[in-house]
Amino acid sequence: MASIARVPLAVETRAPGGETNAYAIGERGGVLLDPAARSPGLDSLADAREVAHVLVTHTHPDHVGSVAEYASHTDATAWAHADHRDRFVHATGIEPDRVFEDGTELGAGNGDLTVLETPGHAPDHVSLATEEGILVGDLAVATGSVAITAGEGHVGNYLDSLRQLREMSPEKLFPAHGSVIDDPDETLKRLIEHRLEREQRVLAAVRDGARDLGAITDAAYEKDVSSVRDLAEGTVAAHIEQLARDGEVTWNGERAEPV
Ligand SMILES: [Zn+2]
Repeated sequence: MASIARVPLAVETRAPGGETNAYAIGERGGVLLDPAARSPGLDSLADAREVAHVLVTHTHPDHVGSVAEYASHTDATAWAHADHRDRFVHATGIEPDRVFEDGTELGAGNGDLTVLETPGHAPDHVSLATEEGILVGDLAVATGSVAITAGEGHVGNYLDSLRQLREMSPEKLFPAHGSVIDDPDETLKRLIEHRLEREQRVLAAVRDGARDLGAITDAAYEKDVSSVRDLAEGTVAAHIEQLARDGEVTWNGERAEPV
C-alpha cells in the first residue's frame, strides 16, 4: 500500500485557502511531492519516511518553494520532467539528479508510483498514479475550478488530461490545493463540463460580436470577475486559442473573428 500523507503548507498562492498540499508517498524510501514551503510537520514526515525522491507536479512558484531545501535535507534524488529540465532549474535553483517522462516508475517503498504526463494547467504538469489513487497537482480541485490561462495553459491538453484520468477510474484524487477528492469520476466530469461550458460561452460571445479580450470576457462571465480580472481574461484567452486551433474563430492575439 502506498500510504499517502498530505501536509497543507501556507504559501503565496492564488488558489483559494492560501495553501499548497505537499505529499509524502510510501512508508519508507518514498516520494516527497510539491514541497512548497518548509514546515516542522513536513520535516518530521520526510525524516520518518526516509524520503528518497523529491519532485513537483509542475514548476509554478506555489509548488517549488522548498524543493532545494528538502533535496539537500533528505539527500533524496531530485527529479525533473525530461522535456522541461530548464524550467525546473529556473524554478528550484537546483540541477535535477534524474529526469522522468510519461510512464517512468518510481519505487516508493511499499508501493509503486507511475508518472503520467498531464499537461494543460502548465506544459510540464504531471500526475502520479498509485494504487491508492492519483496525485493530480493542479489538474483537479474538490470545489471550484482550476485556472487554465493563456501562456501556461492549453485547454485542449487539459481536457485530454482530465479524460485520461477519468478512464483510469481512480479511487481517489489527491490535489495540490484543498481536500482529497473522494468522488473522482464526478469531479472530473464536472471539471470537463465546466471547461466545455466556458468554451461555448466564449464562442457565443465572439459570434455575437465581441472582438477583443475585454469585451469577450464581459460577455462570457455572468458573475462579477473584477477582483480576478487578469485570471478571467487569461482564461478567456486560453479558450480563444483553443477555439482558433479548432477552426471556430480566428485570433491574432488582439482580435477574434468568428469563422
Ligand atoms: Zn499551478
